[in-house]
Amino acid sequence: MGAELHMMQDAKDNQMEDSQTEDSQTGPVLNNGTRALRYEEQLLWEREFHDTPGVDLPEPQGMPLRTGDALREDVGLPQVSEPEVLRHFVRLSTLNYSIDHGFFPLGSCTMKHNPRVNEKLARLPGFAHIHPMQEESTVQGALELMYRLQHYLAELTALPGVCLTPAAGAHGELAGMMTIRRAHEAAGENETRKIVLIPDSAHGTNPATAVICGYKVRTIPTKETGRLTQAAFEEALYKTDPDGKDVAGMMVTNPNTCGLFESDIVGIADALHAAGGYFYCDGANFNALVGKVRPGDFGVDVMHINLHKTFSTPHGGGGPGSGPICVTEALEPYLPIPVVEQDINGAYFLAREKSRPETLGKLRGFVGQFGMHVRALAYMLSHGADGLKEVSENAVLNANYILSQLKDDYHVPYDGPCMHECMVTDKLQKGETKDDDVTTLDIAKALVEYGYHPMTTYFPLVLPGTMLIEPTETETKGTLDKFITVMMHIASEVRAGNRDQFHHYPQSAPRRRLDEVKAARHPVLRWSSDQA
Ligand SMILES: *Cc1c(COP(=O)(O)O)cnc(C)c1O
Repeated sequence: MGAELHMMQDAKDNQMEDSQTEDSQTGPVLNNGTRALRYEEQLLWEREFHDTPGVDLPEPQGMPLRTGDALREDVGLPQVSEPEVLRHFVRLSTLNYSIDHGFFPLGSCTMKHNPRVNEKLARLPGFAHIHPMQEESTVQGALELMYRLQHYLAELTALPGVCLTPAAGAHGELAGMMTIRRAHEAAGENETRKIVLIPDSAHGTNPATAVICGYKVRTIPTKETGRLTQAAFEEALYKTDPDGKDVAGMMVTNPNTCGLFESDIVGIADALHAAGGYFYCDGANFNALVGKVRPGDFGVDVMHINLHKTFSTPHGGGGPGSGPICVTEALEPYLPIPVVEQDINGAYFLAREKSRPETLGKLRGFVGQFGMHVRALAYMLSHGADGLKEVSENAVLNANYILSQLKDDYHVPYDGPCMHECMVTDKLQKGETKDDDVTTLDIAKALVEYGYHPMTTYFPLVLPGTMLIEPTETETKGTLDKFITVMMHIASEVRAGNRDQFHHYPQSAPRRRLDEVKAARHPVLRWSSDQA
């Protein structure tokens, strides 16, 4: 194992000794928890500086309150000055890990570098300072940009109808499934088609979307091979109706959330179409296919695309998502509005109910996350068709490199190469007793200790203890090698019997192990003075 890890370990041991010395030598005045320019501080509300008002506006004198009866009352804002507020939030922001800090191999989330040229273009005043209520004639450039983005998304997916409005992947799923429901309604079949088929490896948003749209979810098992098989699919399709006429459609992620390409997909799509169902493809992970495969060519009818994954618009705290949907020509009339169109004089306009009478309606205000449309188009144009193809090739190459290096140290449940992400489990790290187990959680926490953001853990749910690693194409081989070295080190420590340490990581992080279940089950969303 490289000297690097030992250095980290030494630094940590020193720090622990230090803190004991300090605790015993310095009194409570100096020991405010802040070490090495890293601040441990109270919430602004917990500070009692009521004698130093942060906002210094004099009481209005000799004039009636213009708010009528709404008397000015003490709203209890913390009394802190501008520099104090600024510092507090800047310090908090340094506790937040992001793709701009380092490697972020969160499977299915595609945390990749957001090229700064996108940011620069999104800040051009002609894009940044326009208002959605402006006359269309004054924002022709912005509309053209959206029109071109629609066009390229249609080209890349082979699905000609595009609506840019959904504000995230899950919102795109909703828009897509509502489009499918609207089509069944138009055909008078909405009352008989009540079932949506979804494989058990699916992202949780898929069944949630189907249920919100009023459908019953029928799960297709994939555990044996990690992939959908024609046989398992047909069993689900014909389960309650010999012709599958009670099935509205299926929602499938391809590549799936085990990082595997669904190789039976064409036959499955054919069977579904023969039964009159629609194929919804969760295209959040289009970054594995973009420029290589067009989903419309393998039978997809509707697909959402996470611009914030494949096309590098910032997410995960860095910016809003954007989840456009692309549909077949047959489904295009039902798309949500507005959609950008061009008239015979070449002017761009937002098509609404008048020109799209069959639309399912409006999903949200205005046109969607326009700033993300700018960034996504900038990304496409700066890469070009050949560059986008390279994106998916390198994303897949990087994931397979990691898989090839880790396959002797971690259990790889499914054979063959992966797509843009690889899946392993903690099976080889099991101990003689449960207490000896080094689990996926322990491995994730050890990664934090060693300076790496963990991969996605315990997802997908098809097998116990899964770890889903997505390196993306934007990382260097050097970064991948260092991550692999740390993963191998963890495995070799476990093999050598040095298991106990893994139950105590992280040691050096600002917080150790949080009670995540409690945080999820009993979230405290509002501060009150009892908690102080
Ligand atoms: C990320 C993701 C989603 C949800 O996208 P959001 O923008 O987070 O709503 C849905 N499906 C899959 C497969 C994903 O990876």
